[in-house]
Amino acid sequence: MKANYGYKDGSGDYFITIDTDKCNGCRECVSACPYGVMGVGPDENDPFSDDEVAFVTEQERKKIKYTCGPCKPMKNRPPLPCVAACGPGAISHSW
Ligand code: SF4
Ligand code: SF4
Repeated sequence: MKANYGYKDGSGDYFITIDTDKCNGCRECVSACPYGVMGVGPDENDPFSDDEVAFVTEQERKKIKYTCGPCKPMKNRPPLPCVAACGPGAISHSW
């Protein structure tokens, strides 16, 4: 399933989406993120699953626009470290 973490405000939508069907729990995104946005653990959306999947940490869900800001310069945006690290392509950002 697609798990969305984030919020919208007057300036736009700020969501990180994890495709839990693609995520294999490898933790590469956790290692790649310089600001501790990503975590891996039990799938909170599927209590019957034993698989661990990625999520956005609780403390970051209300401020990812700002925390992710340094990864997203207005011009010449480089590949996002979290997205680039994810081999299965499970991570997407709405902005
Ligand atoms: S890098 Fe991708 S596959 Fe690995 S834990 Fe993170 S989201 Fe899941
Ligand atoms: S964009 Fe940067 S700060 Fe945001 S989750 Fe990805 S690696 Fe972490």
